[in-house]
Order: sequence, then structure tokens, then C-alpha cells
Amino acid sequence: MTRRRIGVIGGGIGGLVCAARLANAGYDVDLYEQQSATGGKMGRVQFDGCSFDTGPSLITMPFVLDAFFRDMGTSLQAELDLIRIDPACHYRWSDGSRMDLPFDLDAIPEAIASISPPDARRVIEYLEEARYLYETTKDVFIFSPFQGFREFVRLSNLHLLKALPRLRFHKTLHQVHRSFFSDPRIVQLFDRFATYNGSSPYLAPATLMVIPWVEFGFGAWYPRGGVYRIAEAITAVAQRAGVRIHTNTNVQAIETRSGAAVGLRLADGTVCAFDRVVSNADVHTTRSVLLGERLPPGRDPSSSGFVAFLSVEAGDHGLAHHNVLFSEDYRSEFDHIFRHRRLPPEPTIYIARSVHSDPSQAPAGRENWFVLVNTPPGISVTDAERDRYADSLLRRMEHFGLRPSIRQMQLRTSEDMARLWQAEGGSLYGRSSNSLFSAFLRQRQRSNRVRDLWYVGGSAHPGGGVPLVITSGTIAARLIQKEDQ
Ligand SMILES: Cc1cc2nc3c(=O)[nH]c(=O)nc-3n(C[C@H](O)[C@H](O)[C@H](O)COP(=O)(O)OP(=O)(O)OC[C@H]3O[C@@H](n4cnc5c(N)ncnc54)[C@H](O)[C@@H]3O)c2cc1C
Repeated sequence: MTRRRIGVIGGGIGGLVCAARLANAGYDVDLYEQQSATGGKMGRVQFDGCSFDTGPSLITMPFVLDAFFRDMGTSLQAELDLIRIDPACHYRWSDGSRMDLPFDLDAIPEAIASISPPDARRVIEYLEEARYLYETTKDVFIFSPFQGFREFVRLSNLHLLKALPRLRFHKTLHQVHRSFFSDPRIVQLFDRFATYNGSSPYLAPATLMVIPWVEFGFGAWYPRGGVYRIAEAITAVAQRAGVRIHTNTNVQAIETRSGAAVGLRLADGTVCAFDRVVSNADVHTTRSVLLGERLPPGRDPSSSGFVAFLSVEAGDHGLAHHNVLFSEDYRSEFDHIFRHRRLPPEPTIYIARSVHSDPSQAPAGRENWFVLVNTPPGISVTDAERDRYADSLLRRMEHFGLRPSIRQMQLRTSEDMARLWQAEGGSLYGRSSNSLFSAFLRQRQRSNRVRDLWYVGGSAHPGGGVPLVITSGTIAARLIQKEDQ
């Protein structure tokens, strides 16, 4: 029997994982990536002797990576030097208060007590509830092909019905945090986890409590050599399994016949025939650009970002690897992002300094600061507005006691990100979870419009973030194999 041919559009993490798994299962796989390297949002920028990860900086659920490598006949340990980050994060508020959150789950109440003693006991109850939510929902909402409301009537999912009151579908994440914690700073700290998939805590359902659990319960991790090492390792594993990777190759269209995907048209006009097509490109872009559907703008895109890569002189800033400088008015920040669609004037600032844990990322006496703020998807700014915004962020950092001596700076706006990764509106995570029904509306792996077309990556089930896009690639590969058996 001839081997079935698979064409994968995009070499982001979801596409690579799906391609690797299918090649490992005996399929003949070609992957096309428009950029000069694979990894997608998980990229690397280098200047002034410093290395910067362009996307993910914090890795959670390392067991997902390990499961992938093991299924591919290797292991996480053999492929990457994953280290725990302790403290997991350093927080500052504009009233001058500061807190380090430890990696060790048992030490978290004590850290919370350092700024809000009454919330220290509540955090134990909260994390227990978040753990319960994760354990109860993970196999349906994350690790298997989700079938929407039908999941609730399956006999095997009776436990979900029983758990409904504790899933708190009817409450927002922020409402639940206010019911647990008395100190607004602790509420804000936990609310911020909504941004891990580009959502607003004031709109997203309380089920997103699984995100803090995932970070506190399983820890914050980093691969020595930079997060980009993960993309390199997955790419190498995919190639070893037989995937042919074509970089600098833009796919212009998905060829269809009688309602089925039958091939890919490349930018040079070549048409390649395939039995199945897997798209790791954004779902909306796939449908509107590659299939030529006339569509309104995508619904509920996740937040985008404004990034400043700074090479700075090393100094005594009191910062850790991951750092958060909180805005004073969190609600107004999210109103700017999702309602007014304007750059928030006084945003929460996240700073990753991987050199803190990994000296290989900057020369002696220098540091690599990755500065990120959340911004609305789909807005455009002029060069002058971009530069003014960067200046305003540096002034805000001063308010938190940070005056880095900057050697060189590079900036990225949401438009840059949209262009680089063909991500609609520059969304960092695909679709947000800003409504109760987000999980139900997210694109499933199998296209319900075009036969033999499959979706993987942040805009498909189960959503954005490194462990989830790995899972997305895994689910697609398993479903394709199942269908062919
Ligand atoms: C600034 C930022 C910070 C983030 N922080 C974190 C974090 O700390 N932790 C975390 O877990 N996640 C984080 N994320 C999210 C995470 O990076 C993404 O969810 C994940 O990497 C997306 O993977 P993907 O499989 O969806 O592919 P993508 O990364 O979206 O890649 C898709 C690929 O398809 C290619 N492509 C698209 N169209 C075509 C075409 N027509 N032809 C050929 N190629 C095409 C693109 O060039 C791209 O390489 C962050 C993202 C960003 C941008």
C-alpha cells in the first residue's frame, strides 16, 4: 500500500508536533514554513551579543513535552535541559509593595502572607479548588477532541454534570477571585492568569482557574539555552522521523476538489498533491486567505502585544527571571484592550530576563530584557506612536524603581506580529476565552467544511500556549490515524 501523503502548512509548535507524530506513524509528510526557520511565535532574536525569545518565556506542564518526546522514542531529559525557575515570579505594585512567588507550592501561603496575611489561608483553599477544576475537566476540555455540549451527556462524563456547580461557569474569573481574596493586590495577581491565553479576567469564565493551578501545581520551567531550544528540539525530532521541512516556502492556497482538500499551491505556483492537509496557520487566515472564503473579522481574538527587546548594562535592579509591574487600574487596562481597542496608557508590564537563570543568553555585564505589555488585537500604530509608547513604558518602569541603562532596543507591534506569523490581528494566542462559550466555539481539529482538512495550533482546540498547541498537534495526529485505520 502506498504511504498516505500529508501536507502541513506552518512550522509552529502545533504543526511540527502533528507532522512528527504522523511521520513516526508511517505517513509521508511535507511541512511548509514561510519563515526562514521553524518555531513560529517561539522564535529567537539576537543582537548586541544577547539572545531574546520572541514569544513564550514561561513553560508550564512539562509532562506534555515529555509525553511527546517519549512517543517519538526519546525523552525530555535527552532533548532539553529544563530547569525550574525559583522564584516563579517577582511582582511589584505601584504603592511600592513587592512579592516573590516561590516555585514550591507549599511555600506559596507564606509568600502571600508577606503582603496579605488573611489571604494566606484562603490561597490554600483556592488552589485546592483550582486543582479540582483542572483534574475534573482536563480529559474532556484539554486532552481529547472536544465535542462541545455533547460531552455533558456522555455516560463517561457524568462526573462533569456532578461538578457543574464547582465549575462556576456563571461567574467571571475576577468575581471568583474577589470572593476568595480580600486584598486587591492578590486579586490582581490571580486575575493576571487570564492573560496567559490572551483573555480578560473581567470577561473570562472562572474555569480559567485551571491556569494558576497549572503554574503553581506543576511549576514554571525554562530550557537552558532559551525557550527557542524547544522549537529546535521538536524540529530535529520531526526531521529524524522523516518530515521534509521546506522553509522560506509560503503556501498560497489549499486546493480542493468535490469539497475535499487535495493539495497545496505554493508561492512559486507549484501545486503539490496530498491525501490530507493540516493547517497550523491561524484558522481565520486559513479560511479567508487559503480557502478564499468571504468572512467577517474573526470573533473574540485574543489580546496582542507590544514588545521591546532591550540589551541593557547589568545592574542591581532586584529583578528575578520573570517580573510583573502591575497597573493601578486593572479594569481600565482591559477596557482599553477589549472595549476601546486602544493602547492602554498605564499598562501592566512583564519583563523576562532569562539571563537571570541562564548566563549563556547575554555577554558578561549585559542583560537581555524582554518587555511585554498586552495590547488590543488588530490595531495599527504609526512609527511615531510606537516610539512614544515605548518611551512611556520606560517612564513607567522608572516609577517601579527601574532605570536600566539601555544599549540597544528593538520594538514589535501587533502589526509586526500579524505579518511575521500571519496571525489575525497579531493575536498572541488565537481566540480568547472572553465568553462562557469560547471553549465550545473554538475550531476543532477536523474541519467541518472541507473534508481531509485538519487544524492544529493556538486558534484551534484546545487553545493557545505551548502545552496546549502540542496537545492540539497530538489530537489531530491521533484522529487522522484513527480515521485511516
Ligand atoms: C509575545 C508572546 C508571548 C507568549 N508567551 C507565552 C508563554 O510565556 N508561555 C506559553 O506557553 N505560550 C506563550 N505564547 C503563546 C505561544 O507562543 C503560542 O500559543 C504557540 O507558540 C503557537 O503555536 P502554533 O502551533 O499555534 O503556531 P504559530 O506559532 O502560530 O506558528 C504558525 C506558523 O505558520 C506559519 N504560516 C502561517 N501561514 C503560512 C503560510 N500560508 N505558508 C507557510 N507558513 C505559514 C507562520 O509563519 C508560523 O511559523 C506567547 C506568544 C507570544 C507571541
